[in-house]
Amino acid sequence: MSTPCTPPTYEDVTQAAALLQGIAHRTPVLTSSTLNDCLGAQVFFKCENLQRIGAFKFRGGYNAVARLTPEQRRAGVVAFSSGNHAQAVALASRLLGVSATIVMPLDAPAAKKAATRGYGARVIEYDRLTQDREAIAREFVERDGLSLIPPFDHPHVMAGQGTAVKELIEEVGPLDELYVPLGGGGLLSGSLLSAAALAPQCRVFGVEPEAGNDGQQSFRSGQIVRIDPPASIADGALTQALGKLTFSVISTLAHDILTVKDATLVSALRFFAERMKIVVEPTGCLGAAAVFDQGQAVRGKRIGVVLSGGNIDLAALGGYLS
Ligand SMILES: *Cc1c(COP(=O)(O)O)cnc(C)c1O
Repeated sequence: MSTPCTPPTYEDVTQAAALLQGIAHRTPVLTSSTLNDCLGAQVFFKCENLQRIGAFKFRGGYNAVARLTPEQRRAGVVAFSSGNHAQAVALASRLLGVSATIVMPLDAPAAKKAATRGYGARVIEYDRLTQDREAIAREFVERDGLSLIPPFDHPHVMAGQGTAVKELIEEVGPLDELYVPLGGGGLLSGSLLSAAALAPQCRVFGVEPEAGNDGQQSFRSGQIVRIDPPASIADGALTQALGKLTFSVISTLAHDILTVKDATLVSALRFFAERMKIVVEPTGCLGAAAVFDQGQAVRGKRIGVVLSGGNIDLAALGGYLS
């Protein structure tokens, strides 16, 4: 499969921002004076739960499809995902007039399959236990000439994801610390490029579920560590390993990788629903949960937090809160 193999630069993030102008939402930055008083800090939440498709992934998906050549666009794209990346690639493709094929597990939630089809994508189902989704996607690439849009380890995906933090810092000014949810590292690596360019003093933390701390192990040991499939309610951050490109950016620019417990994610879900009147999915709460864990250590600081997504069904949310 032909994926470009050098990491993006901040220049790529600014190009992505120009392509996304007027197409992605410029999401709001919300604050809570209750929280600020409690921590003695200023916390700025970048609300990507309010982005198109309900998560930041629209940014990277759109940028990657938009940057294909006219010939590649005519052939179409393929992606494999059971989550937000599927909908991101499906919507981006529809907006750009490109046909999209999304490889999803047979047992993916019906609502997610329906949403993906609703954006006009062809959904190909596979059996998680007996079939390899990457092999299925590769067949579409080799046989039909489709371009694979990977969920994180791709320069145009990473650059697109970086536009959220670019907007955040341009709007609120320099930050002392920034907390970013971490799965495969597309969001964190893009955020690092923007922070390094716009707020070079800012210390940037990636945040993972405690049960799936492959990123922390990789960052601290200096090489990519692969773990067994983790179990956490943060279902968008259950990747087993960082990508080559995302790791190269993260290992040079991140300050540290932190982990949080599922119980703290639940406290954060409750805080957002009850106090801020917004729905944030468990994975989207990772950065906020790490700030709650810091407690008084953030006193006096200006803190940025990316709320990465809001796709959770209300029955599941109710289950966590009851
Ligand atoms: C995909 C996803 C993440 C993790 O992003 P990576 O780029 O894989 O690190 C975090 N939050 C949400 C809501 C996501 O959909």
